[in-house]
Amino acid sequence: MIPVMKPWLGEEEATAAADAVRSGWVAQGPRVAEFERRFGERVAAPHAVAVSSCTSALHLSLHLLGLGPGDEVVVPSFSFIATANCAVYVGATPVFADVEAEDGNVSRRTVEAVLTDRTRAVVVVHQGGMPADVEPLQALCQERGIALVEDAACAAGSTYRGAPVGVGAELAAWSFHPRKLLTTGEGGMLTTTDPELAARARQLREHGMSVSAAQRHRSRKPVIESYLEVGFNFRMTDIQAAVGLVQLRKLHAMVERRRALAACYQDALAGIRGLRTVRDPEHGESNYQSFWVELGPEFPLTRNELLRTLADAGISARAGIMAAHRQPAYAGHPHGDLSSTERLTDTTLILPLYHELSDEDQRKVVSSIRRAAGLKAAS
Ligand SMILES: *Cc1c(COP(=O)(O)O)cnc(C)c1O
Repeated sequence: MIPVMKPWLGEEEATAAADAVRSGWVAQGPRVAEFERRFGERVAAPHAVAVSSCTSALHLSLHLLGLGPGDEVVVPSFSFIATANCAVYVGATPVFADVEAEDGNVSRRTVEAVLTDRTRAVVVVHQGGMPADVEPLQALCQERGIALVEDAACAAGSTYRGAPVGVGAELAAWSFHPRKLLTTGEGGMLTTTDPELAARARQLREHGMSVSAAQRHRSRKPVIESYLEVGFNFRMTDIQAAVGLVQLRKLHAMVERRRALAACYQDALAGIRGLRTVRDPEHGESNYQSFWVELGPEFPLTRNELLRTLADAGISARAGIMAAHRQPAYAGHPHGDLSSTERLTDTTLILPLYHELSDEDQRKVVSSIRRAAGLKAAS
């Protein structure tokens, strides 16, 4: 079976994890601190705070903004469900904005349509690694005095106007789940331009403690900590950070390989009637964390039929990005027009794309799709 995604892990990561274990320091410690420093440098963020997942980074972001009951947070429904859940965690109300059909991201237009006088924050997702056009959203949020949080879960290595995605973000959340490019097993990062938010995030991720466990351990004098506010346990382990440091060195190569494979798909699938491949927007470059194609009415098979055909050929593709508002967890939750979201979630599929995907296996995927479209296997 050709999988849809496979993390690029090897001996180097295994050795790094083993070294962390042998060091005797396995919880949050020096490797986490180094991973934060290097990740922050890579995405041009002045402060990076490692956490247990992107979900906890998003949760922490909305908590840091002081959101609560009665506050509305605009989020795309067209996203992994964690984006919407984080608003609920702080007692706020997620309000679903539609996305642009072209790239699957919210825009100034789709966000403006759902703003109310209770809107306190907008979460923009760089969906599947595709950079969202954040500048018009920053302007909108500034005009209205509301916060903008970037869900960059999928977007490590993507660029926006020549800079890393998330550059200049007050709050951005990243994921290191194996479904993304850079993985630590589970793990996440919160990046921010604001030193005070960073300092508070460091305390909040560790039970609101006034000194970190690592600082206390290094101190020669007895340290008695205090608990400044009610915090969380959102810590990353040094074993995870050790793996992350190796993965970070490979990120550039991962992005290059994914972009080359994406270009092959774009060429080989061009000209198939009723099939559109995802492409870079004018304002940036995707890391192609998810490479999706959209099937129109002229394509001879429905999306689910094509998924079945590919599965029969030993190819594991996936239905496109989910729509949170259609899940039982949000049954009855009010929402406005989400027509592009519903169309994309029904008509898109994600094709296999990973660092070690062989050219031969990629040709097999292309041939299967071409045959399903009634064309000869090779173009
Ligand atoms: C994967 C993902 C998340 C959640 O990331 P975790 O690290 O698994 O918590 C959040 N938002 C988006 C858009 C994602 O793709």
